[in-house]
Amino acid sequence: MCLFQSAARRLLPQLRCGLKASSSKKQKFGLEMARPSSNMADFREVFAKAKHITIITGAGVSAESGVPTFRGAGGFWRKWQAQELATPGAFARNPSRVWEFYHYRREVMLSKHPNPAHIAIAECEKRLSKQGRSVVVITQNIDELHRKAGTKQLLEIHGSLFKTRCTSCGNVAANYKSPICPALAGKGAPDPDTEDAAIPVEDLPQCEEDGCNGLLRPHVVWFGEALDPGVLTAVEKELDICDLCLVVGTSSVVYPAAMFAPQVSARGVPVAEFNMEPTPATNRFRFHFPGPCGTTLPPALARHETEIIS
Ligand SMILES: [Zn+2]
Repeated sequence: MCLFQSAARRLLPQLRCGLKASSSKKQKFGLEMARPSSNMADFREVFAKAKHITIITGAGVSAESGVPTFRGAGGFWRKWQAQELATPGAFARNPSRVWEFYHYRREVMLSKHPNPAHIAIAECEKRLSKQGRSVVVITQNIDELHRKAGTKQLLEIHGSLFKTRCTSCGNVAANYKSPICPALAGKGAPDPDTEDAAIPVEDLPQCEEDGCNGLLRPHVVWFGEALDPGVLTAVEKELDICDLCLVVGTSSVVYPAAMFAPQVSARGVPVAEFNMEPTPATNRFRFHFPGPCGTTLPPALARHETEIIS
């Protein structure tokens, strides 16, 4: 996908190095791990010993909270899908229409709530932090449901619906206003026959930094854009130090797990997938738990009998 070319260029050389360097180890593990295990008791033993857990999450986690993605069959806003509106070109041509789309998505999120998977992850982080252990979430979701559930250590690689960035001065700011500006009140209806609101640029969200007044845009990574290098550096650090990796609600052939999880697995670190179905990449990993992650994840991350809680 073009969106991720830059990130892939940055990470792939490392991926290749990682795989090459550990090929003998991989062959050894290959014999032991020809098929991923779905044995929860075995996973729980690994989980009980892990000190630094990385959890990579994708659209499947949000889907279980009813968050629309505007992609795939039936995934339209008016007559467009996300890949036609979430681009720098679309914003340059028609900032009013793109803001209507994002305003709608922000407003929809007011009625959505974290599901048992989000909550299990946040509770696990809170509990393990008291034991000197860490849980870091790397997500491609922009809906902030992990944050809403209480997750503190969160790397949002695609940004957030609730952050803006100034197209003039570059300032990034959290923004939870509803509506985000008066001109967008009542706008953004998704029905195909809705007319564009055609809001003048000066009435769209504006930068409030001293005297800037620049046009704001959603602080999300659009198609054709690179990932934030600062976020990617933090991601690479997590992938390097984790001793257990969970892939939740995204298959390991789909970005970002496709890039991140194999890198971790190549170091011999256990990777556990929690998604609907096995994929060709699943066989590279130690564990696979099929099914809705709202069902499979809570028992996996619940308190282990060996955990001592003060
Ligand atoms: Zn500005």
